[in-house]
Amino acid sequence: MNPQKVTLFKALLHVGYSRVAPRTLSRGNNLVQFKFSDGMGKWYINTPFGGGIYSGSKDALHALVLRFAIDVEDLKKMVEIGFTYAQEELDSYERTMKKIEQNSTKAFMGFMKEEQKSSNESVDRSTLSDILREFKKQVVFSRLEKELERNNNSCPVCGKEFFDSASLYNHASRTSNMKEAHRNFLMVIMNEVTGLTP
Ligand SMILES: [Zn+2]
Repeated sequence: MNPQKVTLFKALLHVGYSRVAPRTLSRGNNLVQFKFSDGMGKWYINTPFGGGIYSGSKDALHALVLRFAIDVEDLKKMVEIGFTYAQEELDSYERTMKKIEQNSTKAFMGFMKEEQKSSNESVDRSTLSDILREFKKQVVFSRLEKELERNNNSCPVCGKEFFDSASLYNHASRTSNMKEAHRNFLMVIMNEVTGLTP
């Protein structure tokens, strides 16, 4: 197949995005639109991790990868049908994820500092909670996963059984039972993954 013939639109359809309106695709909470203005076609991207407007499909694809709207399996499928930019993204995928992790860690540390500030200072809660969610997903949850494996699927603090890292996180951050010990456990994990003391 001629690579030039495979558009981002086709590539997205190939990985399970579906057409929900003219020139509009969606999968889960991710929305991708192709709109014309002043004779120029542009990509409009909207995801739970933010969005933007991109004039080229190469930049649009990268933006989708950065926002977890396209994963490594999607990229492989796109390469199979000959979407050129997918190969470039695939080649730099690990580097991209590493960059996200570093930025998330930095953003999370900023978030913790803002949280400690007095309440009269204004903080953009919606943006910060997006960043926090991203950070948890990327770094903290994978670290908690290991913790569960090490402790036979139980909370290292109280011994309660858990089968996924998100449940353990929710438990440790919200339980009123041995609150201080659970909080310390989370703080140690945060400290380990960020290399800093919150
Ligand atoms: Zn516990």
